[in-house]
Amino acid sequence: PRTEPPTDLPVLPPGVSRNDYLDGIEELRTLVDGDVQLFDGPLDDGWYLHRPLSHDAYTLDSDDYFTNSAVCAPGSVEQVQSVVVWANKWSIPIYPISMGRNLGYGGASARVKGSVIVDMGKRMNKVLELNEKNAFCLLEPGVSYYTLYDEIQKSGKNLWVDVPDLGGGSVIGNALDRGVGYTPYGDHFGMHCGMEIILPNGELVRTGMGALPDATTEHGSANTWQLFPYGFGPYADGIFSQSNYGIVTKMGFWLMPDPGGHQTLQITFPREDDLHQIVEIMRPLKINNIISNVPHLRHIMQEASVYGDRKSFWDGDGPIPHDRIEDVIVPKLWMGSFRWILYFCVYGPEVVRKAHIQVIKDEFYKIPGAKLTYPEDTPPESYLRSRVKIYSGTPDLRELDWVMWLPNGSHTAFSPISPITGDDAVKQYNMTKRLHEKWGFDYFPTFCPGAREMHHIVMIIYDRYDADSRARARGMMQELVEEGAKLGMGEYRTHLALQDQVMATYNYNNGALLKMHNTIKNALDPNGIMAPGKSGIWGDRWTAPEEHK
Ligand code: ADP
Repeated sequence: PRTEPPTDLPVLPPGVSRNDYLDGIEELRTLVDGDVQLFDGPLDDGWYLHRPLSHDAYTLDSDDYFTNSAVCAPGSVEQVQSVVVWANKWSIPIYPISMGRNLGYGGASARVKGSVIVDMGKRMNKVLELNEKNAFCLLEPGVSYYTLYDEIQKSGKNLWVDVPDLGGGSVIGNALDRGVGYTPYGDHFGMHCGMEIILPNGELVRTGMGALPDATTEHGSANTWQLFPYGFGPYADGIFSQSNYGIVTKMGFWLMPDPGGHQTLQITFPREDDLHQIVEIMRPLKINNIISNVPHLRHIMQEASVYGDRKSFWDGDGPIPHDRIEDVIVPKLWMGSFRWILYFCVYGPEVVRKAHIQVIKDEFYKIPGAKLTYPEDTPPESYLRSRVKIYSGTPDLRELDWVMWLPNGSHTAFSPISPITGDDAVKQYNMTKRLHEKWGFDYFPTFCPGAREMHHIVMIIYDRYDADSRARARGMMQELVEEGAKLGMGEYRTHLALQDQVMATYNYNNGALLKMHNTIKNALDPNGIMAPGKSGIWGDRWTAPEEHK
């Protein structure tokens, strides 16, 4: 059903002739044990577990805007180094992925059309160390949340994994894109400790204590590599996240020891206007760590989307009017009438959990009509039961349900960062709701409070095979970013198609930060071969395409 299939395949990288390209690919095969695939057939969108590596299945632009030419899968650090050297020689842009499930943000696609994907996860997929005593692991890029979880179960070690909403992605890939999970270890990049990276010139670097050689240890670095993140000198790790400065081959993560018990709960609130007070009550509970996980505060519309598709609720045109929620949505959900629902979890032995639950309940029950529910008291299909898994480090795929809201459902996310205040939540809510009404989309708001801020996650669900739906999604995203920036709202992550625009909003002092990023880019990657354009960083070799500025 794709509307504009590309005709001339593979789609070549800019400025590379077909002959040179094909010669280059033949050489590439010799470097990676022949594990190269050319994308010279029709594009197949697949689905979450069979994600395409050839293109972005959830495209926001023309079908072939984000199309790769080939993928190679190195099997060792040395092979990755040789691929990087190869890219410099042939001037072919490469784009590393770990598993390429970055759905809604560009999937496995590169920013520059015709790039060669370096699939780090296919053959480099081992849990190199799982250390119970000091609660950490050292991973290769192909380790998914499911794999890590299974390995821990098999080993019998008393450790948890912090999982994001969908468990099929790579632990390294998610952390590098600064994804989040929902236990107290929810800040995935924040919980990493130590990296191994191949720079765009092929040099192998270890960060933090990893730079201290120690021939007596298993990995040849100091045995504190996964214990102390900083080492000595400038802390380099940050510049390798959401960046195009290198390919990560190993990464350490701190793991949460099994806390000795957990209780997931939900509280519903009856009125749309309760948002302000909910968030005001939330802030001290989060900052004081009474709620120690990353909770979800979801609007009833987001809730509806995991219990049915749009048609099952409403067959009218345009977004479901909020004044119809009571008769259209409420009767079909099991919770009774509500507008906001808060999911959270408390951890520890029973006495500790009970004390925390009491404090949290007393606080939120200041809001008239607030109602706390335990998972045991909900129907088997309740979303709360799937949250129990996520909040206790068990991977799950339930979140896939809401993509089915529309036929050919695709999603992208508008995800600004907000202070944890009622005023800010209401300001964001009103602006985002207004623009959804303007562009004709249902609005699915979720607020996820972290240590001192909230990620406001707005899932935009559109029909990718419907040109009008797709164009409206693109238009709305652009306007959300623009309007949001005027209110001081910056996105923490975005789809490839909006990375230039989002980066341009981080423009304090005439874009000094982007200038610094580009200076580093030019120094590390003078030939501009490593993921050019990622996060709006192009370096001197490239210029951002006009249509995306
Ligand atoms: P996941 O499958 O976990 O969703 P991806 O593999 O798609 O994640 O990775 C998300 C993004 O992170 C990629 O688009 C890429 O920009 C970056 N990335 C992933 N793995 C690596 C890596 N090993 N080295 C450098 N960057 C990476």
